[in-house]
Amino acid sequence: MKHVAILGSTGSIGTQALQVIQQHPDKLKAVVLAAGNNYELLIEQAKAFLPEFVVIHDEHYSKVKEALKGFPIHVLSGKKNLIEIVSLDRIDIVLTALVGFAGLEPTINAIKHKKNIALANKETLVVAGELITKLCKEYNVQLLPVDSEHSAIFQCLTGENLDSIEKIYLTASGGPFRGKKRQDLQNITPRQALKHPNWSMGAKITIDSATLMNKGLEVIEAKWLFNLAPQQIEVIVHPQSIIHSLVQFKDGSIKAQMGLPDMKLPIQYALSYPDRWYNEFPRFSFVNYPNLTFENPDTDTFTCLALAIEAMKAGGTMPCVLNAANEITVQAFLQEKIAFLDIAEYNTRAMHAIPHVSNPDIEQLLYTDHHTRRQVQEWIGV
Ligand code: NDP
Repeated sequence: MKHVAILGSTGSIGTQALQVIQQHPDKLKAVVLAAGNNYELLIEQAKAFLPEFVVIHDEHYSKVKEALKGFPIHVLSGKKNLIEIVSLDRIDIVLTALVGFAGLEPTINAIKHKKNIALANKETLVVAGELITKLCKEYNVQLLPVDSEHSAIFQCLTGENLDSIEKIYLTASGGPFRGKKRQDLQNITPRQALKHPNWSMGAKITIDSATLMNKGLEVIEAKWLFNLAPQQIEVIVHPQSIIHSLVQFKDGSIKAQMGLPDMKLPIQYALSYPDRWYNEFPRFSFVNYPNLTFENPDTDTFTCLALAIEAMKAGGTMPCVLNAANEITVQAFLQEKIAFLDIAEYNTRAMHAIPHVSNPDIEQLLYTDHHTRRQVQEWIGV
């Protein structure tokens, strides 16, 4: 039995992780569920899965406490408890499914308590890849990717040496605006941008998919997960989202991992690793997909992808700046305070304006994140 802590249990990844746990009651047990504002769903989940602890934002504490009276569940609240709960002895693996920079500190604490990490929260590696990978080595912790592309690469690398990799191809659906040019994107509404063609995900990652920032963040995530040089990572647009990513080895051989676009599979693999477990999820049929197509990404239109690659090459605090700016601009776009194309504009401006630190420690990363957010908020006027 693996005991799982799910940070972000009420989100898209969190709820799908609970479906995976439901399929394997003899193998997986949720011992911690943590959420932010959706206290009603957290209460429902707690009653169904009976974790030992739930954690919620402070303002919802009394509602959750009251609703779970009589259940053998401890109710905690606030950021400090969210960070500390991952140290619980009973936890074997922490699924980090929070969105954004908020995932960083709980992940660091989990690693320091030798918990394996099922990593959905890509922003953690974007912001602090060097620090996190060092800590994982020091504490002998496995970082198991949940992102479908990275899970694909991870699966392709089973039985291979990392130094046999020539390059990897991260596939991208291209998002809802594939084929469009800048002039077509001027009046895009949040509603249009939230309609992803293949995946149903949380709001932030869906907007990141529409700007291709998500693919840029994934490039940085891949660099740290698989110890790659920037020139070893290529993005290829594959609109059907059936090939989840590919590895090209030194001898020219290419391995791909395929399947229907369903996050439950990579979530399950991260939790079952190194085993594979039977499940009832729908199977892929070749005849339903006679055409698998590929094209280059359009980085002149979708400049966020180019920005992320630039940030990765610059290193230091640059990816942290880009991530913080992007979290603010995406939120501002969702609240209709800025236009779709402004996301990239403000992100670029932040990368030029915020002072650079080459080898940041955690304090410098926390400061950079905070400072960037304040600066971008000031520019936007929110
Ligand atoms: P959602 O927005 O759907 O869910 C985020 C979850 O985190 C919710 O449970 C939310 O709680 C919780 N949360 C957010 N901020 C805080 C906080 N400060 N404190 C406590 N809880 C918090 O996001 P997704 O599930 O889509 O994405 C999660 C992560 O996984 C992201 O980093 C994303 O990039 C990555 N990912 C997602 C994929 C997907 O298919 N969705 C695919 C690959 C990666 P509440 O809702 O209660 O406020």
